[in-house]
Parts: sequence; structure tokens; C-alpha cells
Amino acid sequence: MNEIIEELNRLKKEKNAVILAHVYQLPEIHDIADFVGDSLDLSRKAVQIEADVIVFCGVYFMAEIASILNPEKKVLIPDMDADCPMADMITAEKLKEFKSRYRNPVVVAYVNTSAAVKAESDICCTSSNAINVVRSIEGAGDIIFVPDRNLGSYVQRVSGVEMGVWSGFCPTHNNFILPEYILEIKKEHPCAEVLVHPECRPQVISLADRVMSTGAMCKHVKKSAAKDFIIGTENGILYKLKKDNPGKNFYPVSNLAICPNMKKITLAKVVDALANMKSLISVAEDIRERASHPILKMLKINMQN
Ligand code: SF4
Repeated sequence: MNEIIEELNRLKKEKNAVILAHVYQLPEIHDIADFVGDSLDLSRKAVQIEADVIVFCGVYFMAEIASILNPEKKVLIPDMDADCPMADMITAEKLKEFKSRYRNPVVVAYVNTSAAVKAESDICCTSSNAINVVRSIEGAGDIIFVPDRNLGSYVQRVSGVEMGVWSGFCPTHNNFILPEYILEIKKEHPCAEVLVHPECRPQVISLADRVMSTGAMCKHVKKSAAKDFIIGTENGILYKLKKDNPGKNFYPVSNLAICPNMKKITLAKVVDALANMKSLISVAEDIRERASHPILKMLKINMQN
């Protein structure tokens, strides 16, 4: 293990590379990353980075955002097949047809979308800033939210803003974090604080003490007086929560809440991608340029809040 890490450090220096990783990545990736965060943290980081190469350990749309925001840098994803099934539930063609059903539509695209879908959208959001983004929209047009129906309906309930919501979902959060599992685990840990991600079903959200993005969970746990937490999101976050808060206890709602795509990236693939400069993200310039606007608009909103 030490040899592979030495090799990675040598390559990082040689190529002037940084490694960004999503919190759902494997522990071995958390340990070698220069920065670990959620989608919003990583989008912000991607604009600040001073390096020639970004190795993005996450799923494809995340690496694509880094590339859209840094056209002069090389962005590598160590496994080209690390995809997000939710992002694949909407295409630019489907979005155009959906827009045609609304009056002067304003499209809010969750970052879990392709560059082509972002290019057809007005503003992006992450689970950290979706409510602020929707509240920031002015004008008389209809608001459309794509692609996550669970996040969309949560944002509608909290903001009171009516939206046309696409019916996509995250298989990991929607299918494996279920209300009955929460009721069961609450019996075992009645004093634990229940934190869930807004990609979960509404019935799950209604059982939670707090609904938060993964970035907000990491911050909240550090300052909370609670000692025990029931965590309703992809289980990769548990490694970071335990590492950052050794005196606290964390219980996943379900051991099945694993995103197989997030686990495709391994340390060996990171070294291979960097050594051979392979799996380079490439976005056609016209799409890149159009997709950059909704992302930058989102980052601007976020800085104001
Ligand atoms: S956890 Fe869900 S939303 Fe996140 S990458 Fe996996 S499938 Fe996509």
C-alpha cells in the first residue's frame, strides 16, 4: 500500500495534479484525496483550484462540471463507467419536450444531470442550495425542476413554490432507505438524531429530525450536542463522519444504501489514470459554454446566501 501511495504522490507532483473526491467514495479514496466534499463543495473547489490536472473521484457528471468550469485544465475520471443513473433519467431531448408543456419555463437543473441537459437549463442547484436557488427565481414563468422528484417535492414543500417536477430518482436513496427501516433503527437507538438526505422519499423525510445535504450533515454533526446519529444517505459518508468525530456513534438506516457507481473508483485506477493520462473528460465547446452559465449562476446565488 505504501508503494502505491508513494507512486501516486510522485505522479501528482510530476503532473501538478490534485485529487477531488466525493464523500460517497471508498475509504481508500478519502485517504488519498486532497479534498473530500459534496457536489456543491466540489463545484466551488473546481473553480478555485490551481493545478494542471484534476483527478475527479466521483461520478461522471461531477467530473464533467469540473471540466466545464476549467476548460484549460485536464480533468480525469479514473473509471469512465462511473455514471449516475438518476442523471441518465433525463436527456436534453426529453427536457425540450417537457419545457414545451409550460409557459415561459425557467428550468432548475439539479447538478446530477449531463452537460447537454445543463445547456438547456437556466440555473443549477445542489441539495445544499436548492431552496435558495428556487427562491431566487424572479419573473412570471413556470418553474420546472429536473430530474429528482424527491428533492423537487421537498423543495416545493419548504419553499412553497409550485414547480413542474420531472419523475427521476436516485435508486440508492429511493429504493434502499425506507420508512420501515428508520422506524426499526429508531427503536434500537431512541435518542439518536435522524439525519436524511432530500433525495429520500417524502415518507422517509417526514420521519427525520433534519433533512440535509451530505456537506451539511458533516458540519452539523461536529456542532450537535447529540452523541448518536442515524444516517439516511449513501453509506460512504460514514467513513468521514467517524473519522472526523471519533467520540460519536453513527448508524446507517440501511446497509444496502450503497451507490455501486461511486464504488467503481479504486486507488489502483486513480494511479493508472494519472500515470497514463487516460479517461480524460471532454465536452464539446458549444455545450460547455452553454452549460457553464447555469452552474456559474448557481455558484453566484450560493455566495450571496
Ligand atoms: S448516490 Fe444516487 S444520485 Fe448519487 S451518484 Fe449514486 S445514483 Fe447518482
